[in-house]
Amino acid sequence: MNLDEFRKHGHELIEWMANYFENIESLPIKSKVQPGEIINQLPEFAPDHAEDFEIIMDDFNRVIVPGITHWQHPGWHAYFTANNSYPSILAEMLTSAMGAQCMSWATSPAATELEERVMDWLRDMTGLPKSFHGVIQDTASTATLVAMLTAREKHTNYQINNNGFYGRGVFRIYCSTEAHSSIERAVKIAGFGSDHLHKIDVDENFAMKPEALEAAIVSDSEHGFLPLAVVAAIGTTGSTAVDPLEEIGNICKKYKIWLHVDAAWAGTAMLLPEMRYMIKGIENVDSYVFNPHKWMFTNFDASAYFVKDKEALIRTFEILPEYLKTKEGTSVNNYRDWGIQLGRRFRALKLWFVIRTYGVDGLKEKINNHLRWAHDFAGWVENDPDFELLAPAPLATVCFRLKPQNGNNERILNDLNKRFLEEINYTQKVFLTHTTLNGKFTIRMVIGQTRTEKSHIREAWMLIKEASQKI
Ligand SMILES: *Cc1c(COP(=O)(O)O)cnc(C)c1O
Repeated sequence: MNLDEFRKHGHELIEWMANYFENIESLPIKSKVQPGEIINQLPEFAPDHAEDFEIIMDDFNRVIVPGITHWQHPGWHAYFTANNSYPSILAEMLTSAMGAQCMSWATSPAATELEERVMDWLRDMTGLPKSFHGVIQDTASTATLVAMLTAREKHTNYQINNNGFYGRGVFRIYCSTEAHSSIERAVKIAGFGSDHLHKIDVDENFAMKPEALEAAIVSDSEHGFLPLAVVAAIGTTGSTAVDPLEEIGNICKKYKIWLHVDAAWAGTAMLLPEMRYMIKGIENVDSYVFNPHKWMFTNFDASAYFVKDKEALIRTFEILPEYLKTKEGTSVNNYRDWGIQLGRRFRALKLWFVIRTYGVDGLKEKINNHLRWAHDFAGWVENDPDFELLAPAPLATVCFRLKPQNGNNERILNDLNKRFLEEINYTQKVFLTHTTLNGKFTIRMVIGQTRTEKSHIREAWMLIKEASQKI
């Protein structure tokens, strides 16, 4: 492909993207293909000879697009959202055109300094303490692993990095029974062993019980274990439960334990000052993660990781072979030492484009709408005698099920709701997924897609009601 062809096809692709968004509501939201259906349409061997771009695009439309589930469809209410937006997409195009590898300040000063600036913006926009330093990680899973490793190294004066675990006691990590699976994965990878992830009971709102946490820490210490870190959730994945941060923080302070906060989805809601009651006690937190790539209209991936003790983070990861030495040295941020990967994409650019295009006010308005519509939706569920709310909905996710007035057998209700969810999704106009809460099959209605409007929420409720009459 030469430059003229690049220019021509580039314009065509912008048209493709604009048409995609124009028509997205007419696409079946969830791909219907069967396993193997796509790969069987792909040649077994790579082409020896150059192929025309038109043919590649034809195949893209014919083979690939039918195998795509449309996360940017306004009827998206599944899992959590993974949003994009027009400014974010455009910034990603620039990022890929420049193709800068942003491992150190010197390898693209603007990428480093813009990251520093937008992370300070995000910190201030979401009411985090000024003492926090931010860095973009790829995902919350990575950020939580980084937190576990930093806690481990700080606690051992950076000696496990040097000597391994030999001759050390056994560390314990704490999270609630509702915590995300990425916590367990981080505990495994950091070398603690998943048997030493102590899961703490939750209350009737699915939030960690602080008194149970303290009892576990005391009991583990008495048994010779070393309590190292607690991971508190602000917005669990199941029901968006909020662990009591202030009480957990006081416990961590008392026993000198690292406190990491997983606010992967809910963190964006902290744009609204009235939601910051959820992070009351944040000053006792050591590290915090939230994902602009979920709910802040920014393409995957962009996970915002904040730490109080920046030196501990850097000492955990720093490595300086001769070929990475630069004359600026440590007078600048070299983000390669703020996490696991050496090579880094220029991810700050899309955040800068998004924040400036919407403005903080525009972002707040969107989030506020999502919260309001979720509140409305929860009200409709609550006031319908055939439906039941299964958890509080403090954010924009509503957990509910169908519960006919004469239905009391839990097993039958679970089967019924499984079929009900399939019936809802059968329309292909909305997509919802489930979890289990207290053994109950729970349907989750997540409201937060960039293009979702109030009318979509009403339409979704109508579809849900119709589906309930069908089964
Ligand atoms: C989505 C989610 C994660 C995982 O996020 P990734 O960025 O995909 O790793 C972790 N914790 C919670 C609470 C989440 O909702």
